[in-house]
Amino acid sequence: MKHPILRISIYLLLVNFIWQCSSGKEDAFEEVEAEIEEAQLPSCVDYESVDQDDLSTYWNLFVEDVICSRGGPDYGTLNEQVLVRFVVQTPEQLASGVTPDHAGFSTFIGYCNNSVVDISVIRDYWEDYSAVQQLWLMYHEFGHDVYRYEHSSDPADIMWPSVPRSDVRINDFIQAKNRFFRRDFDGVSYIQCPSLD
Ligand SMILES: [Zn+2]
Repeated sequence: MKHPILRISIYLLLVNFIWQCSSGKEDAFEEVEAEIEEAQLPSCVDYESVDQDDLSTYWNLFVEDVICSRGGPDYGTLNEQVLVRFVVQTPEQLASGVTPDHAGFSTFIGYCNNSVVDISVIRDYWEDYSAVQQLWLMYHEFGHDVYRYEHSSDPADIMWPSVPRSDVRINDFIQAKNRFFRRDFDGVSYIQCPSLD
């Protein structure tokens, strides 16, 4: 006859072992899952290399990104005049209730001229954005100015008229940016410039 106490302790030992083993596995699984979730999609530029106080670093990043992702063209050479600057909303604009839906705007001078980039960013708005929202906004304006893109009707696209929510992730940006570079998003259309068409 087997000793009942011994049998119970072996059972407990076994249960304990199984429990530890499975809980260990779960932890490991969760860790792997978290790593997969946070792994940044591949890109040939470092999106953290920009300086939030110097908008020309966003232009340089964009130029480099087009060259290394798509093999060109070199928009840095094509655009002889690059005006990318911060502006302050005037008291008149504030008083009249003019609130742009995002911090940046491009002008006819830039998007209807292949050798000029002309983009303004309202500093007060800019400073409230996350790093990804700032990247998103600058690529959106380069989309108007360089590609002459019109707005998209899909919120997941860089050319959607508003900046995305503040919790937008770098991978959302990279995926949208890849479609944007390939000119591959729904309803892609172009600003008409009589002098260029
Ligand atoms: Zn726009």
